[in-house]
Parts: sequence; structure tokens; C-alpha cells
Amino acid sequence: MERAELGHLIDVLQREGREVVGPIFRNQAIDIGPITTEADLPIGCVDEQERATYRLTRNGSARVFGFSEPAASFKPYIFPQRQRIAAFRREGRGFVDEHHEEPIPRLALFGVRACDLAAIAILDRILLEGPYVDESYRRRRESCFIVAVNCAQPGGTCFCASTQTGPNCTFGYDLVLTELHAKGNHRFLIEAGSPDGLEILEHLELSEPTDDDIDFARRQREHAADSMGREMNVHGLTELLNDNTQHSRWDDVASRCFNCTNCTLVCPTCFCATIEDTTSFDGKQAERWKRWDSCFTLDHSYVHGGAVRVSSRARYRQWLTHKFGTWKEQFGMLGCVGCGRCITWCPAGIDVVEEIEAIRGSDEKVREEVDHG
Ligand code: SF4
Ligand code: SF4
Repeated sequence: MERAELGHLIDVLQREGREVVGPIFRNQAIDIGPITTEADLPIGCVDEQERATYRLTRNGSARVFGFSEPAASFKPYIFPQRQRIAAFRREGRGFVDEHHEEPIPRLALFGVRACDLAAIAILDRILLEGPYVDESYRRRRESCFIVAVNCAQPGGTCFCASTQTGPNCTFGYDLVLTELHAKGNHRFLIEAGSPDGLEILEHLELSEPTDDDIDFARRQREHAADSMGREMNVHGLTELLNDNTQHSRWDDVASRCFNCTNCTLVCPTCFCATIEDTTSFDGKQAERWKRWDSCFTLDHSYVHGGAVRVSSRARYRQWLTHKFGTWKEQFGMLGCVGCGRCITWCPAGIDVVEEIEAIRGSDEKVREEVDHG
């Protein structure tokens, strides 16, 4: 597909009645937001990511996807941060149900990276394929058309090659793009991954890829896989973490962690939520809201009479051992897709790769009944 046809692809998706959301420039970062024309895409932007560091520059390049994964994931579009789930009004001695289901937009998620495709697959496993189906999530997911993009240049905190969730998109998309930009040539290799994707291709002006195009795309994919910012040994993580619940590293990391929850908010696989009830001052109206929660808040582990995980040590250990250990026991897969966002956006510069390696490097095998203090 010629570069000039990219805007046409966005038009076609909109003509199908879809709201297109994808990477946009906002607040000095690449966020996810509405895209009405191709000019909304952060063309020519390059990001630099390291622990607690994010810097965006415009390098004058015509590349559309010259950056690594956006600062935010697509999670808020399929699992909203806040949702009203019930509303009642007092009438006489009873209550009237005033809750209406919000209309779900038909979405096109545009420019989804391999790590975020894998994260969506993890959320599907938990919220759709488990014993309890999240109906709101199901309706949102069913409305989604996904246009994925193969990464050309991973960021400094990426390690999806280690978690085997990237950098190439291999499943979970309707269309996938590979940007081919070299020596005055600017095209996209576009492949369909579903009947819906094939149908969209029929509306576009396309030509068969040349052998050079295919070779270029292959080399670019190999280069991306070899240029990961980080590497993590994921072998035997469940056993390693289960064997080290009392490792001294938990105290070390607790002395640095602010319990700010940033890591869980940016993580594309975190799905914990809490329920809040509110009533109007006159006592005539009541609402129930569901909103994102984090294992770093004290209330998240409140059972009867108090919180189970009082200390930072216990909360950080819960986050790391769940993502990289017990998640596998629960869902048969790692809870991490190697996007690196928690490393970039942790204000304390805490790096999950380094924390895992520190425990592996000094495997103390200190396993006792988990204390919750
Ligand atoms: S734990 Fe960190 S690196 Fe892994 S998916 Fe979540 S944010 Fe990305
Ligand atoms: S690990 Fe970092 S981002 Fe996560 S709660 Fe602690 S300080 Fe915040």
C-alpha cells in the first residue's frame, strides 16, 4: 500500500461507522486518542525511553510509526477507568432503577503493537474466557476492529522478545501494517488476519508486494527483535518467586517504592477494579461505580477489619510475584507482555527486569508462610 493510501484506510474505517483511536501527540508524549485524519498521527516523532525517563523529539522524518509503544495502552477503550454500573432513585417507600447501559461505540484500534495485542489476549482470557464474563468488556471487545503495526524500533525499556509477545504481530489483528521507509520509498506492507480485514482491503488501492518489499520487512522485523532495550530470563519464574517470598530484596525495593500506583495504571494487563457506592446529599439517589484499582493501594487488600497487605514490601511483592509467577499458575501464561511501560513511568526508577534479576542472582530460597506485614 502506498503511503498516500494510509489516510484512505482511516476514511474507510470511519465510513464503516467506526471511531478510530490510535497514537496521538498529547502532553509531550504519545498517548492514545481519537484519530479523524492521518494528520492526527504523530508523524516524525521519535521517543527515548529509559527508567523514569520519557523524551519525545520530532526528527523531521516522514515515518508514521517511527516511535516505540505509546505511553498509554488501548486498555481504557475496552476496560474503562470508571463505569457506572447501577443507579437508583428513591420513590415513596421503594427505589426506581435508573441505570441505562452506555451505548458502546464501534471502535477501530489503530496502530496496536504486538505487546498490546498480547495484552488484549490476556484480558480476553480473564474477562471473557474465565468462569465470570465481564459483559461490558465483552460488548466492547466485540465492537473492535484492530489495525496492528509491526515494530521497527523497540524502545529502551522494551523486552517483549523475552516474553515472546513481540516485536512482530502474529495473531489477534484484522489488519497488520509494516512500514517500509527507505531510499525515497515509502510504502506499507498490509496483511489481513480476519475476514473483516479482507473486506476492508477490498476498498483500498493496493499492489502486490515486490520481493524487495518482503525482504525489507523481514530484515526490519529481525532488526527489531535484536534491538530490545532489555532482556529478561523468564525461565522458571514461578518457582523462583515462590521460593523467595522472604528474600531481602523485597525490603530493598520497598524502601524505594512510593506506592504511587503508576506501574499498575500504565500496565496493559492489570485488570483489578473496585466498587464505590455514592448517595446524593438528600439521600434520594444512589449510584454504584466500578473503577480501576491497584495492588499498591491499602484498601485493595482490605478484607474484614483491615488490610491484608499493609507494608510496601508486601504490596510490591504481590505485584511482582503475581505478574511473573502466580499469574502463570492461574491463567497458564505470564501476566507481563514486556512493554516496559512500568519501567518508564515508575517515578522511583524501579525496573522489573532488574528486580527479577536481583532475586535470580542471589536466589536465597527463603520461603516461609507469606507474612502480610
Ligand atoms: S508488568 Fe510492566 S512491562 Fe509487563 S506488561 Fe505490565 S507495564 Fe508492561
Ligand atoms: S513500583 Fe514505582 S510506579 Fe509502582 S507503585 Fe512503586 S513507585 Fe509507583
